[in-house]
Amino acid sequence: MGGALIRMTTLPRRPAAGLQGSHCSGCSVTVYPADESCPRCGGPATPAALSGAGTLWTWTVQRYAPKSPPYKEPPGGFTPFALGYVELKEGVRVAAVLDVDGLDEIRIGMPLTVTAGDGVPRARPTHTREEDS
Ligand SMILES: [Zn+2]
Repeated sequence: MGGALIRMTTLPRRPAAGLQGSHCSGCSVTVYPADESCPRCGGPATPAALSGAGTLWTWTVQRYAPKSPPYKEPPGGFTPFALGYVELKEGVRVAAVLDVDGLDEIRIGMPLTVTAGDGVPRARPTHTREEDS
């Protein structure tokens, strides 16, 4: 944090890793991405940092390259990837790219941690203590 350079920018500040949603205290609805008004009751909503902790609600595999832009093809070229909806503890479902080692490890209900990515949020399996089975 050296120097006194202050960057002036008109771009919205990108949250480091957290998901910025919003919450309506009137009807207790949480939404992502953040919205100034509540989609349910139209009342004012306040910014709320979401935990990112949730479980996989449903998912699919993207087998062809999405429209570009906004899709940015990775250096190695397109490879199929998993997309899903993660239901957060806050009760909101967030669409995210699933960063998994293999598609065969994906299970509905699996615990995931969502972070705000460069564009679409990313979800990784939540590493919990391995349970004996
Ligand atoms: Zn509301």
